[in-house]
Amino acid sequence: MNHLFFQLNKLKDSLKDKFIFLFLDYDGTLTPIVESPDKAVIPRKTMEILMGLSKNPHCRVAIISGRALKDIKNKIGMEGIIYAGNHGLEIKGPKIKFKAPISQGYMTILKKIKAILKKKLSKIRGAIIEDKGLALSVHYRLVDTKDTWLVKTIFHEALVHYIVSNKIKIRPGKKVLEIRPSLEWDKGKIVLWLLARRKFILGKEPCVPIYIGDDITDEDAFKALKNAGLTVFVGDPGNSHAKYYLKNTQEVTEFLEQILKIKRDEDVCQD
Ligand SMILES: [Mg+2]
Repeated sequence: MNHLFFQLNKLKDSLKDKFIFLFLDYDGTLTPIVESPDKAVIPRKTMEILMGLSKNPHCRVAIISGRALKDIKNKIGMEGIIYAGNHGLEIKGPKIKFKAPISQGYMTILKKIKAILKKKLSKIRGAIIEDKGLALSVHYRLVDTKDTWLVKTIFHEALVHYIVSNKIKIRPGKKVLEIRPSLEWDKGKIVLWLLARRKFILGKEPCVPIYIGDDITDEDAFKALKNAGLTVFVGDPGNSHAKYYLKNTQEVTEFLEQILKIKRDEDVCQD
């Protein structure tokens, strides 16, 4: 896998005079991964660039996050951006509002699971249960390494019955385990759906999708956009399906700045 900056000039040319649909993950992509999720704050410079991109008529920004919709919207707080929370179970943006069909039965199960996990994980220091409304996350970044197996065991024992009966799905991430509804709906499917919608609006105007993400859940989007867009993994490139990689969130910010510059220059040309 190539580092994106090795190909930057060529890539920059390919982005000119085209509508850019920018799909961005949040944690680990726009903000460095921190000890607990509430401490992840987006750097001011990244924020300013995002603001510029969100207002530019030649691009659209969508933030696709595992966080709850309300949470991710509050963290960024800009108009003109599409926010997809809970890995796309809830989406809100300009002229778009979507909520996945979720049964009352699932919500009851989630409530039960939360109570069980709260009780059983209470004796493990550093285990954090995050209630995201439609999904539930157990973070174990702060748990002592020797105890992480215990967190995973408790988690799976509490859930196995519901997994086997296909009532819920488990999605692992970076030091986090997520419980979500058993739906065929992932970051890849969301990206393709949003993209199809945009292409319908754009008609024949060329559109380049760019997806940047750092975690396992982003792989679905990398696969979905294979040969159809620019996919960028953030971190040490291992077995990712992305085409390029960037080393860290600072490099992501630099790349976003380059995109903004290209699109701003187009504005000047048009004037
Ligand atoms: Mg991430």
